[in-house]
Amino acid sequence: MRPSINVNQTERIVRALERAGYQATPNRRLVARLVAATGGHFTAADLLERGRRERVKIGRATVFRALEVLTALRVVERLELPSGSHAYVVCDPDEHHHHLVCSNCGRSEDVADGELARLVDEVGRRHGYRIETHRLELFGICPLCAAATEVTDPGGRA
Ligand SMILES: [Zn+2]
Ligand SMILES: [Zn+2]
Ligand SMILES: [Zn+2]
Repeated sequence: MRPSINVNQTERIVRALERAGYQATPNRRLVARLVAATGGHFTAADLLERGRRERVKIGRATVFRALEVLTALRVVERLELPSGSHAYVVCDPDEHHHHLVCSNCGRSEDVADGELARLVDEVGRRHGYRIETHRLELFGICPLCAAATEVTDPGGRA
């Protein structure tokens, strides 16, 4: 249900571009590599910042255009954050799943439907709809962030 850790994300993204008929230009490869290096959700500004740190030349417009293409191919997904801003997360379009996103550190994890599939069918049936698809993102505090704040949290729940 979760892509293997050994999968080379950069190559996976590049292959998705090529399958869709896009040339894997050096710029697109570079964006693919920057995207693959992210460990959670990211913004175009994060990618530009990472590019600067690695001393590679990449322009804003290039990053924005590449992200647009990758979003259309659903290799990355655009998240509407509870704060009202948005970010992207690396995604696998071939595997239906949802994202657990940490509102504190931005880490993201894939989760399968599980019980949700039955609930979705039930809601559809009750309203006379044949449900074709659904989207759901879950935002909260990841275990690592929860552990880190436990000490200072006055109302600390177990
Ligand atoms: Zn995903
Ligand atoms: Zn976290
Ligand atoms: Zn689902």
